[in-house]
Order: sequence, then structure tokens, then C-alpha cells
Amino acid sequence: MRNCRIVLSGTIRAFRFGARMTQMRRKSGSAAEEPFWRKPLGELTRREWESLCDGCGRCCLVKLEDEDTGRIHFTDVACKLFDAGTCRCRDYARRARRVHDCIRLTPENVGEIPWLPPTCAYRLRREGKDLPPWHPLVSGDPETVRRAGVSCHEKVSALEEDVALDDLPDFIVSWPGKWPKGAGRPPKRRG
Ligand code: SF4
Ligand code: SF4
Repeated sequence: MRNCRIVLSGTIRAFRFGARMTQMRRKSGSAAEEPFWRKPLGELTRREWESLCDGCGRCCLVKLEDEDTGRIHFTDVACKLFDAGTCRCRDYARRARRVHDCIRLTPENVGEIPWLPPTCAYRLRREGKDLPPWHPLVSGDPETVRRAGVSCHEKVSALEEDVALDDLPDFIVSWPGKWPKGAGRPPKRRG
């Protein structure tokens, strides 16, 4: 799935995938109307699907897998196309051509990607959970992702083109795989 291979007590590999954030507010409707994001992932329109991304940027961090143990480690090194200021891809439309191992997230593969961050809206919905209060679709404010400590904003150490492959293990961090302390959790669903 990923081109680069390096050695660290066995062979480890790095990989990533990308999604993007689009602005899409909750449709107004009656109080009883379910928000669109509670629909099954496969029933979302393309626009709805794209809007699920909270723009955290965690999936654009290089990840390493220890092929001896299968354990996946996040690093705080970001893809070469990542804009650490906005936490967005600098060339989303052409990302597949420019970064060949950038994986397109789909309703079909979202359940097969084991390194999705626990905060990722696609993972949450795949697990049948609601969106958390800091998600822009709920809060109406993209800044709540940063304020909740979920965003990669000011947490990226380097872009991958500036780090030698052999040095990537020095950048392993645990925070992208965790739910930030104090960040609200999805409400428990009724029924
Ligand atoms: S190509 Fe863009 S979307 Fe894909 S991992 Fe890199 S920054 Fe993220
Ligand atoms: S981890 Fe999920 S919510 Fe965050 S940027 Fe990637 S796809 Fe979007």
C-alpha cells in the first residue's frame, strides 16, 4: 500500500490516505428530522460524504507499521502535500497523481483501514457513533476542531520530504491515535 520501506527491528512500512474537509452545514428542517450524517455511510451523497471530514489532518501524517508485530505507529511527519497551516491538502484534486499511495476513503474501504484515528468522523460513523460536539457539522465552526485539540494544527514537526526514511521512527508519536483529553465525546445514541 505504501512505497517506502525502512528497517526498525524488522521491516516497517509507512502509508497514508487522504480526505478533505468541505464546508457543509446541517440542513435546516424540522426538529424531528435526523441530520444527514446519521444516514448509513453508503447512502450519503458525494457532497455529504466529503463534508463528514472534520479537517483534522491526522490521516495525512506518515504512519509506520512494524511488519513483525503489525503494530501501527503514527509519526508527526506529514505528507509532502500537506499544508500545516490550514491542515488541508495543497492539491486535493490531483493528489492521486502526485502522491500515488494516497488512498481514497470510501464507504467500502473505511472499515478495512485500521489506522483511522479514533476521532475520525468516518470511523465514528462506521462504528455507529454520532458526531462529537466539536465536529464542524455539529458546532457550525471549523475552529472547534482545533480548539478541541483534535487538529494537527501546530503539531506537525516536518514534511516527509525533509526527513530521511531511516529517521522516520524518531518522529513516532502517540497523540494522533488518541482521543484528546477534554474533547467532547459523541452523545450516546438512544435505542
Ligand atoms: S496527498 Fe493530500 S490528502 Fe493525500 S495524504 Fe497527502 S496531503 Fe493528505
Ligand atoms: S482523520 Fe478522518 S476526519 Fe480527520 S482529516 Fe482524515 S478523513 Fe478527515
